[in-house]
Amino acid sequence: MKVLIYGAGIRGGQALDLIKRKYKIDGEVIGFIDNYKIGQYQGYPIYRLEEADNLKRRILIALNDYKTAKDVCLQLQKRGYADIFWFQYKKTVLKHEDFFTEQCVNCKEWSEDILPQVEMHIMDSCNLNCRGCTHFSPIFSNSIPCLEARLSDVKQLKEKISCIMRFYILGGEPFLNPEINDYICGIRRILPYTQLYIVTNGLLIDHLSDETLQCIKENQVWISISEYQPTRKKIDKICQILDEYKILYEIREASLKEKFCLPLSLSKNSIHPKTCISNGCVIIGDGKIARCPQLMYISYFNNHFNTNLPEDGIMELEFCPTGDRLLRVLKEEVPLCRHCVQNEIPWSVCKKEVKLEDFAVKD
Ligand code: SF4
Ligand code: SF4
Repeated sequence: MKVLIYGAGIRGGQALDLIKRKYKIDGEVIGFIDNYKIGQYQGYPIYRLEEADNLKRRILIALNDYKTAKDVCLQLQKRGYADIFWFQYKKTVLKHEDFFTEQCVNCKEWSEDILPQVEMHIMDSCNLNCRGCTHFSPIFSNSIPCLEARLSDVKQLKEKISCIMRFYILGGEPFLNPEINDYICGIRRILPYTQLYIVTNGLLIDHLSDETLQCIKENQVWISISEYQPTRKKIDKICQILDEYKILYEIREASLKEKFCLPLSLSKNSIHPKTCISNGCVIIGDGKIARCPQLMYISYFNNHFNTNLPEDGIMELEFCPTGDRLLRVLKEEVPLCRHCVQNEIPWSVCKKEVKLEDFAVKD
């Protein structure tokens, strides 16, 4: 396999350096493509896009900005390229086995409509019950969702949008669900080119079966570990297991997890500054889609605490718009946004009786 790096700049140099120093790729880099530079870069020839057309190689887009990378990808597809990857540069725990799996996104399904990230609960409850959990996990019972229904939600979403770049399997604590292997295989079948992640507090990793660990590895699922205080106590053991199975993982460090936030105010005019904690985390489940988990589960919150926070903006997956229109709708402000505030608290867990004050301020 011959590889051309699109972008003879810092990012392109970084990709080349990684390939040369850390990875063995099945083939070689033969040069760069750049429409603004000529000559050589890092000792490799720079081609214009028209010149590269004759070479018809795997293209590695090495551009920071996602929107520019997408434009380039669509341009390349129009010229007949099918084997395209976008270099992302991950500093997480890597095995240095396959550069394209570890450091890149496969652009095979890239089109005008790309949903950068989607998440789905496979378990609503959690074994940690943090105060301020934006998924409201402490108020949920331990019931296990219907596997077929959840997989059908993924399928339905895939029919609405050309590409889902990253898909997060989470909760609550996803490893509490005994059908985790079926979820991994089922979601991978529906989303063969998407980067799959399991987001976990890590506390159950040392209880996972050999079969589950193999399944994670074989389906190229990343593990994203939130390192809360109890997790930190066993982090070495967790890493040892994941290393043994050559599973890729990232650790969201304890220092970042020590501060939490009470994410809601019952008032639209809170004294606390407004903030959006969701960062574009679209969520699906129960045949529905919402622009963030807080909105998706606000009806459970209202029922549990007898509050009346606005629930508007959740759509039925079956009837929601498709493609670009869906992306636009998912960015629109919803009435609940006026209640989302920044109100820092030290990380801690809820007491046995979960209280409204564990998630919201009354100001
Ligand atoms: S570990 Fe995560 S999902 Fe579980 S309660 Fe804490 S924040 Fe919520
Ligand atoms: S309700 Fe709006 S502001 Fe609040 S987390 Fe969701 S998208 Fe962000």
